[in-house]
Amino acid sequence: MTFESLGLAPALLRALGEQNYNTPTPIQLQAIPLAMAGHDLLGGAQTGTGKTAAFGLPLLNHLSKLTGVNGPRKPRALVLVPTRELAVQVNDSLRGYAKHLRLNICSIYGGAGMGPQVDMLRRGVDVLVATPGRLIDHLERGTAKLDAIEVLVLDEADRMLDMGFLPAIKRVLARLPQQRQTMLFSATFEAEIKKLALEFMVNPQQVQV
Ligand code: AMP
Repeated sequence: MTFESLGLAPALLRALGEQNYNTPTPIQLQAIPLAMAGHDLLGGAQTGTGKTAAFGLPLLNHLSKLTGVNGPRKPRALVLVPTRELAVQVNDSLRGYAKHLRLNICSIYGGAGMGPQVDMLRRGVDVLVATPGRLIDHLERGTAKLDAIEVLVLDEADRMLDMGFLPAIKRVLARLPQQRQTMLFSATFEAEIKKLALEFMVNPQQVQV
């Protein structure tokens, strides 16, 4: 199985080739076709399995279909992550995959100044990678808008719940359009995660490595 046979946009295939991604990993093989078909997805995968590309490639492939947008853009995809480190890492990975696409990918997280993040959001963002607490700060100030979100990813959902982000996640979810695709990745599936998934996902397909 190759990335070509998954039907990804040529610009993504080019970036993958340049990064020497030759063969999809097992989680990518399972997740990418389901996500590209528009399904909600529950992914069981640890760090190091290639899960970032498993949700990132279908997400970017979807956004790559948009053409001719002018002016500042509102985020159309949101990736929620538990930590600043993961925000930076996911942001870098997505930028690498999207190297040949004209998409603005940005990350916002706590422990850094609001000013530069506000400026970035004002200039227009297509993909927003965020920690839940800092995203709430921006929502309260009106500097982040989530009414154009088409794809939501919860990455390392179990860690986000362990860190007490459930109330923040629920507040974010309340601001998102009902009509969207949702992907949740977690290393474990405790009752709390399943409950969250049942509440805000539609007929999720489960993939596991
Ligand atoms: P992740 O689990 O998303 O953090 O990815 C783990 C590491 O594997 C990262 O360094 C990725 O760049 C790399 N990686 C992910 N998918 C592939 C692939 N299909 N081929 C080669 N490297 C990959």
